[in-house]
This record gives sequence, structure tokens and C-alpha cells, in this order.
Amino acid sequence: MLLGFISDLHANLPALEAVLVDVDAQQLDALICLGDLVGYGASPNEVIDLASEKADVSLAGNHDLAAIGSFDLALFNRHARASAEWTSGELTPANISLLLSLHSHRDAFGLSLAHASIRDPVSEYVSNPQVAGENFAVADFDIAVVGHTHVPAVFALMGQFVTGERLPAGRADLTGQRSIVNPGSVGQPRDGDPRASWATFDSRTSIFEVRRVEYDVRRAQEAIIQAGLPKFLATRLQEGT
Ligand code: ZN
Repeated sequence: MLLGFISDLHANLPALEAVLVDVDAQQLDALICLGDLVGYGASPNEVIDLASEKADVSLAGNHDLAAIGSFDLALFNRHARASAEWTSGELTPANISLLLSLHSHRDAFGLSLAHASIRDPVSEYVSNPQVAGENFAVADFDIAVVGHTHVPAVFALMGQFVTGERLPAGRADLTGQRSIVNPGSVGQPRDGDPRASWATFDSRTSIFEVRRVEYDVRRAQEAIIQAGLPKFLATRLQEGT
């Protein structure tokens, strides 16, 4: 099966639209959304509508939970808190119900899927080999796919050692190794590359591929400013940080 992964869409409609053009060109067997559909960006309802129409499986991220009152806003910085409060006021009743129905961890297609980590599906950042190693120890998955860091990466268990590297774009062969992989962020990349990030995994070849897509950053920025959201949330999009 050829599976696609989108994560951390963050209400960025131009980024999602551009990624879905690339998604449609890949002839996937299924598309999985790892959560954080909303927060930071200016198009929460449009992004939920489009992502839920296209994705076969969707998870809830911490920002999704924050927007529906299921995550403590005190854990957010001021920009995230401001955008969560704005998003709460924007969501339609149907989209609130939809977010309420999502879980943050699921096993599907022979993979372990979580928004953040297997150990803590809502909040933990798998951003270094030590945290990855602790996650390999808590469950017996072969391959886990997580988002949340906004940085595409591959962590692998090699005997007793855990390797970890960023995968800004391109392929990694996961054959014969337990792995935790991250497709990066559609709507707010943070690895210094402003292009939207998503990934595929081919279960026949065990190849994980990170794909980058240019999108109309300016359109997303203007929508953020027009909505009265913090300006920082617009400027960071052009830097990919
Ligand atoms: Zn996120």
C-alpha cells in the first residue's frame, strides 16, 4: 500500500490546497492526517472541511483539543493561546463535533499513528534519539508515524542504539528496522524550509519519502493579519521557523 501522511495543517488553507494537488498526483491507497488541523492559521473551518473530506483517518492534535476546550491553555505560549481563543470563536458546531470525535492515537494500516508520540499522543515532542528510544521501549510497534514537531525526521532502533536525523526532503529505507518517522508540517514548517511538508510510506518497499511543496505563503500571511491574529504567526511562515 502507498500511504500518505499530512500533519500540523494549522488552518493554513493555501498550504493544504497545494499539498493536496501533490497528494492527488501520487495515487495513494489512503491518506492519514496526524492532527493539528487548526491553531495559528486563519482558515480553521475550511481546513477541517477539506482535510476531513480527503483523509481516510484523522487524529486530534493539542491545538485541536485546545480549540474545543480539551487542552489546558496555560500550557501554551501567548501566540498559541491567542490563536486557540480566536479559533474557538470561529469553529462551526459541525466542526466542533468533528474535532470532539477524533482520537490522538490509533493503530491502522499496520502502523502506530499518533499526533505527538506513542507514549504521550498529545504533548510529547519526539525531537531527539533519547525520546525516540524511550518511545520504542513503551510499545512493540514496528513503525510509528508522528507529527507535532513540525520537523520531518526519521528515528531508527539499531540494536541497542537509536539513530535520528532530519529528512528535509527525499527518501529513507526503513527495511528491517523499528522506526519512528515524522512527515513534517503542512501549514507551519519549522526546519528552515518554508515549503509545505508531507510524506508517503510504501508498505511494499518500506520507503518513507518526505515531499516539499511550494505554496502561496503571502496569501496565508494576509489571512492571518486580516483575522487580527498575532503578526508573528504570519512572519514565521516565510522563514519556515
Ligand atoms: Zn502543530
